Amino acid sequence: MSGIVRADAIVAGAGFWGCTVARRLAEAGRKVLVLEARGAVGGNVRCEADPETGIEVHLYGSHIFHTHDMAVWNFIRRFTEFNGYQHKVLANYKGKIYYLPLGLALINKFFGVELKPGEVADFMKDERHSSAIFDAFFRGYTSKQWGKAPEEIDPSIIKRVPVRDNYDVNYFKDYLQGIPADGYNAVFDRMLDHPNIEVKVNAPFALQDMADAPVYYSGPIDALFGYKFGHLPWRTLRFETETIGVKDFQGTSVVNYTEAEIPYTRIHEFKHYHPELAGVMSAPKTIVMREYSAAWKPGDEPYYPVDCDESRALLGKYREEAAKIPNLVVGGRLGGYKYFDMDQSIAAALAVEI
Ligand code: UDP
Repeated sequence: MSGIVRADAIVAGAGFWGCTVARRLAEAGRKVLVLEARGAVGGNVRCEADPETGIEVHLYGSHIFHTHDMAVWNFIRRFTEFNGYQHKVLANYKGKIYYLPLGLALINKFFGVELKPGEVADFMKDERHSSAIFDAFFRGYTSKQWGKAPEEIDPSIIKRVPVRDNYDVNYFKDYLQGIPADGYNAVFDRMLDHPNIEVKVNAPFALQDMADAPVYYSGPIDALFGYKFGHLPWRTLRFETETIGVKDFQGTSVVNYTEAEIPYTRIHEFKHYHPELAGVMSAPKTIVMREYSAAWKPGDEPYYPVDCDESRALLGKYREEAAKIPNLVVGGRLGGYKYFDMDQSIAAALAVEI
């Protein structure tokens, strides 16, 4: 790091949005000071390698990189290779395991039928079929994840789960996909490794510190203004991580538990994200993490913005405040209050005028 005396720009928050903006500014010749409130960069993509097993633990829940945006892909590929991992999500409903995309594998197993491609749409037009699927796989999970019935949340959220008329069980439609070959932390370190970038951790940003240099902020937008209009609603997550003395606990990286009665939403098993690491895969131990969702309260980490009339009105007020401040750009999942995937955060940062 260069020990910048006077910064031309401040980037507050070092997740994918902030690090992409910082890198672009640095490459444009600007001296950039990156201020990260936490003790390490990487935002909620931060990982930690378990010293005993070498397993890369995603500290804030599973992150699988996927995109169909070539500009994003070309950008991130400057900082990492990917290992070719393709994500599949299994659902456990009443002790039975299903491949989650709503497609032939799930429907045929659930109903004990043998539908062929082209037959799913008609089959699902029958209300009894669609309700049964919805109740088994979406109602319980959504009530745990959002504290609401599926009918009460924005349909775009449920539409994230793919519906298919074939046996493709890849969870994402994006064919550009994988886990960084030497882990996520290395990606952030390389993005920030530039003579024009200085990074300070444990360095929260406050509006009163703003001077002439433009500020690119990606913390929660309501926190930036001291919650003066009230708290935006967020969902927070709690994780229980456990090292278990078996080689393989669940045979895959993520299993969703779709019943309301099981208190967690899913179990992550991180070694499966690196099938190329034979030593890690064959270690006689594994690390699993149970994920629980709850309404955010002060002191919790915000994870998911809750899109509703109340939050839209409040967000509008905070955005108006932000727009009054010259030289302030607010973005990212927390700053934008948007349910961004990693690639969308990078795409948004690539579009920022610098
Ligand atoms: N969902 C569900 N059952 C599942 C998986 C997802 O009901 O087994 C719903 C749920 O409302 C969830 C949304 O679909 O919040 C989006 O799922 P996704 O897997 O994209 O969630 P993320 O991984 O971003 O938390």
